Amino acid sequence: MNEQLAAAWAAEKLKSLGFENVHIETFPLVAWVRGTDHGEIVSPNTQPLAITALGQSPPTPAEGLEAEVVVFPSLDELKEAPPGSLTGKIAMVDRRQVRTQDGSGYPQVAVGRALGAGEAAARGAVGYLFRSASTDNRRLPHTGTVRFTDGRVPVPAFALSVPDADQIDRLIALGQKVRVRVFSTAAYVRDAHSQNVIAEIRGKVRPQQVVLLGAHLDSWDLGTGAIDDAAGTAIITAAAKLIRDLPHGPQSTVRIVLFGSEEIAQPVAPVQAAGGHSYVNNHKAELPLHVLAGESDLGADRIYALALPKSVAPESEFAKTVYRLLTPIGVLPASELTEAGTDIGPSVDAGVPAFQLSQDASRYFDMHHTADDTLDKIDRQQMDQNVAAWAVVAWLAANTSVDFRTAPQPTH
Ligand code: ZN
Ligand code: ZN
Repeated sequence: MNEQLAAAWAAEKLKSLGFENVHIETFPLVAWVRGTDHGEIVSPNTQPLAITALGQSPPTPAEGLEAEVVVFPSLDELKEAPPGSLTGKIAMVDRRQVRTQDGSGYPQVAVGRALGAGEAAARGAVGYLFRSASTDNRRLPHTGTVRFTDGRVPVPAFALSVPDADQIDRLIALGQKVRVRVFSTAAYVRDAHSQNVIAEIRGKVRPQQVVLLGAHLDSWDLGTGAIDDAAGTAIITAAAKLIRDLPHGPQSTVRIVLFGSEEIAQPVAPVQAAGGHSYVNNHKAELPLHVLAGESDLGADRIYALALPKSVAPESEFAKTVYRLLTPIGVLPASELTEAGTDIGPSVDAGVPAFQLSQDASRYFDMHHTADDTLDKIDRQQMDQNVAAWAVVAWLAANTSVDFRTAPQPTH
């Protein structure tokens, strides 16, 4: 519902900014509604837990779910537990996320959020707790989606705040058996839909060629989604608007896509990036003419590196030009492209070359997917630099005849 309001608002906003061919492309979706949730330690003492249901988790029974907690240091250790060994228990994966500039501490922890409930249930567990994927120690749980296993999430799954995970660890280290009670009224909405919002600056010379800039319009319900990913939608829109307002338009089309439903997994294929797959389905015929694609989805702090497709030699005219413009604002060449983005992933898989503007993610996972994801966390100065970097890459890509496909593309 809120995502549809956001899409309608975005389409009107993009029209008022002077973009062309503004439209909304809808696609079907299984949605999820949080309802209410809470949890507490019931033994050896009683203590409320800062807890939240993970996205796509089924509800608990109406009276809640109470069981003993069994802690695993990581998903790998949970997977080593024998079948039946967790019967009647609540499994907990307790891996800490490392703070890094490039956000590389996140995927190895987030996999426990995506897959832990399924692995726990396969060993007999009745519920799943996950130490939030967080670089902070505030008492806020970080939500995020659970992946479906054979079309369902088998047991209720919750994220714990970091201090609450620590408390359970301490009690267990003292030799205590820890029992918790968790409660959730989450529900699925099986006939929902989502949508991508698309807008363009039509190319003056090669309008059929497209430089694709992507971000996602959906966000988690606990906060306002300012850093994830209103920031990205603002960055690519502002960069495209700078190009739109130049006296001479771009040679190729610059297209921005505000993807829907990046955050939530689906029970049937495509299980992830429903918006990204919908875009590929609707634009299949155009994909061979996509020049280059990039995605902004890591907050709004400053850009420090650019990775170009492997086909672009460092000594090429294109590379020299782009880095001559970016180096003065603190953006250096990256050695390789590590992650093109979730939503442009299906386009990249279909052969579209990608670039990656790496931004400082040092503090991003303090707020990510929490109630603390609000506009006051955006640093205006850093965001301005970020927009400038996007504008440079988009403008140069839309005004070059370089074929970025001439070498094998890195995968996303
Ligand atoms: Zn997110
Ligand atoms: Zn995101």
